[in-house]
Formats: sequence, C-alpha cells, structure tokens
Amino acid sequence: MKKTVCTYCGVGCEIGFDRSSVVPIRSGVVSKGKLCVKGRFGHEFVNHPDRIKGALVKKRLLDEFKIDTSYFDRRGEFFSVPYETAYKIVAEKLKEIVSTHGSRSFAAVGGARTNCESAYLLQKFTREVVGSPHVDNCARICHAPSLKGLKETVGEGAASVPFDEIYNSEFIFVLGSNTTEAHPIVAHRIVEQARKGIPLAVLDVREIGLFKFAKYKLVIPFESNLLFLNAVARVIVENGLYDRDFVEKRVSNFEEFKEKILSDELSKPEVFRKIPGYEYLTEEIYRLAEEISKKKTLFMWGLGITEHEDGSETVMAIANLALLTGNVGRKGTGLLPLRGQNNVQGACDVGMLPYYLPDYKKPEEIGYMTPDIIDAALRGEIRALWVMGEDLAHVHPNSNKVKRALESLEFLVVNELFPCEVTKFADVVFGVKSCYEKTGVYINAERRIHLSQPVFDSELPDDWEVISAVSREMGVDFGFKTSEDVWNELRKDAPERFGEASYELLRKNFEEAPQWPVKDGRGTPVLYEEKFSTPDGKGRLIYNRYRVRGMVEELLEKREIEGFYLTTGRVLPHYNNANQTSRCKTLEKFKLFKEDVVYASEKDRERLKNGKRIKLKTENGETPFLPLEFNKHVRKGTLFVTFHRAKSSINSLFGDESDRFVKTAKFKSIKVDVTVEE
Ligand code: SF4
Repeated sequence: MKKTVCTYCGVGCEIGFDRSSVVPIRSGVVSKGKLCVKGRFGHEFVNHPDRIKGALVKKRLLDEFKIDTSYFDRRGEFFSVPYETAYKIVAEKLKEIVSTHGSRSFAAVGGARTNCESAYLLQKFTREVVGSPHVDNCARICHAPSLKGLKETVGEGAASVPFDEIYNSEFIFVLGSNTTEAHPIVAHRIVEQARKGIPLAVLDVREIGLFKFAKYKLVIPFESNLLFLNAVARVIVENGLYDRDFVEKRVSNFEEFKEKILSDELSKPEVFRKIPGYEYLTEEIYRLAEEISKKKTLFMWGLGITEHEDGSETVMAIANLALLTGNVGRKGTGLLPLRGQNNVQGACDVGMLPYYLPDYKKPEEIGYMTPDIIDAALRGEIRALWVMGEDLAHVHPNSNKVKRALESLEFLVVNELFPCEVTKFADVVFGVKSCYEKTGVYINAERRIHLSQPVFDSELPDDWEVISAVSREMGVDFGFKTSEDVWNELRKDAPERFGEASYELLRKNFEEAPQWPVKDGRGTPVLYEEKFSTPDGKGRLIYNRYRVRGMVEELLEKREIEGFYLTTGRVLPHYNNANQTSRCKTLEKFKLFKEDVVYASEKDRERLKNGKRIKLKTENGETPFLPLEFNKHVRKGTLFVTFHRAKSSINSLFGDESDRFVKTAKFKSIKVDVTVEE
C-alpha cells in the first residue's frame, strides 16, 4: 500500500492506495480510516485529458527567441516545447527584466497545496537568485489573520493542540467555520462529542449544518464577530470569571486589558439588545462566558472569522478568551484555526511570506503582500510574476482588477495542473506533478508533518524541480537532486521546528506523524504547557475596539436592512476553484453543485419575486444570472453563495477592503444589488 495525504483541506487526512484504489488507513492519526468524498474520490483528476502535460510557451516568445515553431504541437495560444527550452526562455526573460527594471520588478506567489520543498524553493529563488523580497502565498486570502493574531498573543501562528483534543474538551466553540462542508473529518469528531452530550457553541451569520448539534446556536449580524467576542471577554473580566491563578502567572498585561475593555461602551453585551433581530445574543453572551470559564474549552475557527476587515483583531479576541480562562496550554483546551489548504501551515513555516523567512525569522526587507503585488503590477513596478499553483485570477478578490494587472505584466510564468483563469494570461505554463504523483512534506492545520509518497507514476517535474532548473539556467545551481535534499536544507534553516524531522523519521511515523517542534524523536502535541512562545514567555491580551459598520450600523440606525448582504463559502464535493474536483467524475455527479447557487431566506421570497435566477452586482463587478434557492437557514436580508466556478465571477464582486494588518480580503460580507431574472 502506498501512503499519501489528501490534497484538499487543512485537515490533511492520510490516504492509502492499493494500486489506484483508495484504502482507508485506520491507524492514521488524522483520518482514523475515515475520509470525506474529496478524500475518497478527489484523486480522479489525475488522468483527466485536460492535464497540462508539458511546458507551454506563447508563440510571440518563441518568435522573440527565434525558435522555429514547426517542430512543436500547438495547444490553443501556446506551443508545447521541451522543458529544457522553456527553462532557458524563462531564465533569459527574467534576467532581461531584472537587468532593465531591477530585482524588485519580480514577484512570486505560491499556492498552499504545493509541498514544503517547493514552497521553500520558491521563496529561496525569489530572495536569493532574483534578489526580490516580494514573495507571498495564498494564506493571504484565508488564514494570514490567524498567523498575525496568534503570533501577537501566544507566540506561534499555529494550532496549540491536535484535533483529537476535541475528545478531551468539555466545551467546544466553533466560530465562522462551516466545518461539515469545509473540514468534514474534524466535523465528524465534533458531532461525535456533541452526541455524547459535550456542549457545543456555533457562531455564524447563517444556520450551518453544525447548528443541529449545538447548545448555543449563535446567528450574529454580518461583521459583528469582534463585537460579540469582546462582550464575552468583558463579562468574564467584569464578573470575575477569569482564571486568577493562570492570569497572574502566565499573562503579562491583565490590568491594562481590564481598563481598556471596561472603559469601552461597545464591549457591553447589552449592545445587542439594540440590534433588531439579534437581541437574544445578550443573554447568550452571559451564558457563554460562564461555560468558557468553568469548562475545558476548545476554540476552532475558519474563514468566517478571518476574512474581514478585523480578522486579525478577532483572532486576538479569541485568544483573549483562552488566556483569560486558562484555556490554552493543556489538554482538552486550545486554539485551533481550521486552515484551508493541506499545506497552508507548511507554506508559512517555510517562509513563503513577504514578512518572514523560513522558521519565522525576520527578513531584512519586507516584501509586498499579494494585493500590493497586484497594485504594483498595475503601476508597472512589478514586471514579471511567477505563480505556483494559485489561480490568482479566480480566487482573489476584485478579480476584474487582478485580470487587468495580469494583462499588464511583461512576463507571467505559471505552474499548474490544468488550464484555469490565470493560465489564460501566462506566457509560459509548466505542467507539474500533482500531490498524488510526488514525494514531499505537507503540514496540516494541527502542525502535523506528513511525508507523502507518490501513488501514480508521472514523468512531469515537481514544482521545486522547475524552479531549480530555471535557477541553474540563471547561473545558480542549488545542487538539489531529490526533494529530500531540499527538505534537509530546510531542516538546517529551522532546526528547532524540523531539525529532527528527517525523511526517515517521517516515513517510519507516517500514521502517527509528529507535530512540530520535533524533539527527541517525538512531536509536540500541546504547545505552551510551560510558557508561551512570546519574547517574555507570557501570553499577551490585546484589546481591539470594535468599529461600528455595515449591517450592525444599518440595524442600529435604521432598524432594518435595505437590500442584501452577501457571504460566500464552500460545498462539500468541491474545493476552491474546482479545478481538480470538477475533473473528478464521481464528485461531478453531485448534481446540485454543477453551478454556483445563491441561497436566500424564505422571508425574502416576495422581495425576490419568487425568482429562479438572480444576478449579483457591486461597484466592482457582477455575476451572470445564478440559480436561486430559498431556505430557512439564511436570515432575512442576507444571501449566501458558493464560489467554485470561474464563470460565476463571484470574486469580481469584492473590492480592496481587507484586514488592516495583513490585507486578507473581506470575502465574508458585502452589500450587493440584486436583479431577478424575469
Ligand atoms: Fe481531504 Fe479534508 Fe476530506 Fe480529509 S476532510 S479527506 S483532508 S478534504
């Protein structure tokens, strides 16, 4: 049996393959022999005829390099050329652009489903070979606020405990995560515990699947996460519910925090009494504060928390609750961001970020975050971009603007599995191995380090091999022959975290994969048992005032909502731009999800003329008419839409509004105009 890791969500389930059939790995610490539909059938894309199986170069480039195209096959606007030819072309073009416009005219953006070795090499190439600080990854549009919020408060931008602490906790608080659709194997554990009577609180802007099992069903107004969590913290502080011993010994600034929170009128739970339709939340806040302070509580959150203007601040607010109540640093408690992609933790750990080198060391020069790269491309400052496994033109906000930026580039290189929105703008496209065809390390949302083995044969290069080859053509030979060579260099760069995590150890311990930091041959399941990873070893409470805006402001002032607020999300059978999942024949059988669907409240049926299709529009862009369905789970005045299909242009609706620290887009709330199809 060959052992690999699921290529989709941040749960990172182990998958066994016997030839091409999936075999559950019962001893797998993450999956425990269970897989969701994506784990079970999500590999079917591997042999799909659309796979990019070569190096593709646009004709104008071949003409520029005086290469006779008559030898090569045409594929649309591209010609399929030998990889060696493409490596030379990319190297020459990058040298030319950098010598004319400087090294900072180059940027690189990587996806977080490439392995650690490729992520490490993309940042190394960008920083050391080209000499540009501009390297980022797609955590920018999901969990960069979790990294920021956790680093500032507890010291590591990562989960403090494994998923299995769900079994040891006495109270589970899920915030802004539609876990049953987005992280199904974790949801399974939550439901198991809820069925055994462990109380569950679920906070969201609509009634998601987990509500069925929740003791606290907390539907809150759009963009009020921070308002709600500050109120819970205030009750804990004001009513003396905090853990005095823990706070005294392990928290550095309680008095300062207390003064700030108690002097802020907006932190009073009674604020919700003034918000029509949400008055009930005031009582819930008091009850919740009691539960959190009395029980071993585990906090888990998703993009409903991070994809806002105050995403980082809200993560800090969650950490505040854990620090006040001693719910971090021991079993059954903790902070567990449910990260999106299977290697988003790893991509950040290995430095594919503009403000961190590998192992979160500080760089001399901070580079641009992806939204800045887009703006710099539009200004003509960034001339060349390398995109590795990230459909920038689909999954980023303000997609019309992103497309204009991509069009304005002098040179765009893309590593991809299938044609998608971003490859339309590329000058060179490298077809590369998928997760199921290569050896490499992936780090899941609980810091667990899996060494994945190839299941299917492939002649294609891995991303890191493409980067190495181009680097060699540019005069820098890294000397890596295997992915293990890359990983071994990285281990030296991050000795505390990965020094002991050799391929040999990871291979031997695939089922019980260790969590970083790896010490004495073993992982570290629980962080902060003795001290936090902050400079003084203490937890830091950070109070951020809530800024009244959007739906909260409208309800406080006008008492009702005009128009509609939209939020977005994933459905179980598909993943992000559905580039892979839509090419899996079993996943495509789920008829309901053939196109993106808008869900509205039954109470808005009349307002929406009982329509069948609806068009959404903002000042940034508009969608075509999309199917409309009514249900009881969405509140009056709110809409939910899935975002998987490029032709729906959902992300064209969003503008540049983003987290004020790390620029993660405000994907979870936007006011939209609607047109119902006659
Ligand atoms: Fe894959 Fe996530 Fe499903 Fe596990 S829960 S099988 S990692 S998509």
